[in-house]
Amino acid sequence: MQKRPADSLKPTALVTGGRGGIGLAICSRLAREGWNVVSVDYGPADTDGEGLMLTADLATRQGNLASVDTALAHFGRLDAIIPVAGFQSVSPIQDFDPDTWDRMLAVMLTSPFLLARASWSSLKVSPLGGRFLPVASAHGLVGSPFKSGYVAAKHGVVGLTKVLALEGAEFNITATAICPGYVRTPLVENQIAEQAASHGIPREKVLSDVLLGAQAVKELIEPEVIADAVMMLLGPIGPTLTGSTLTMDYGWTAR
Ligand code: NAD
Repeated sequence: MQKRPADSLKPTALVTGGRGGIGLAICSRLAREGWNVVSVDYGPADTDGEGLMLTADLATRQGNLASVDTALAHFGRLDAIIPVAGFQSVSPIQDFDPDTWDRMLAVMLTSPFLLARASWSSLKVSPLGGRFLPVASAHGLVGSPFKSGYVAAKHGVVGLTKVLALEGAEFNITATAICPGYVRTPLVENQIAEQAASHGIPREKVLSDVLLGAQAVKELIEPEVIADAVMMLLGPIGPTLTGSTLTMDYGWTAR
């Protein structure tokens, strides 16, 4: 893969889940703001996307390491790691499939760890200050029944972020976990449809009473607003928020 000298002058972000709702919004915004973007996702690279599109299974060690290697070979630097890939699976604890549990932890917790580990020496020399900005969830702060795998993985990545903030401080690396409430993406649209069918109630009722029941404000966040938060964290305010969570949950966790 050919490295173009001009590319290494621009900051580079590696975004996982870059072909999903939130990841794509982040990739598009970064590209518009002049960043090199490495978008890693599971699906084929001929779908919608932005930047250098890599296909990898982030549930595997090899998929994560190869993504960092390819990003560095292509752009010569990594300034921000933005782990977004994830998925939901809902089941009571006694029925929760252990393989699904393993995969949830692998994609939403171990992948961010492997990416940070493999890119750490590059983040250390970033002229902007390296950034680790996982998209966790309000479920990184509170629980909900039937979501043991998801809630455990998201709490885990919030903890990982705190450790990286402490270890990164002397190298000008900062780490902040973004914790949104419900965002308007395919992941959520599918949940609305599934719950409408299983409860036998209209879509609007699922939104206000079921999905957004815990949010003070019954609104979905637009993916572009998460991209705004990423840009804020990449800017001068970012370091002040290191080690913390940026909670964007319309009042969900205010109770
Ligand atoms: P999405 O389903 O639109 O996108 C997720 C992306 O991750 C998909 O493109 C998928 O292919 C990719 N992915 C999943 N497993 C992968 C694997 N093993 N290897 C490579 N890629 C993989 O979902 P989204 O709504 O954009 O969610 C993105 C992130 O934001 C997730 O981590 C989710 O938990 C989190 N989040 C979402 C919401 C929400 O309401 N949508 C709220 C809070 C947090």
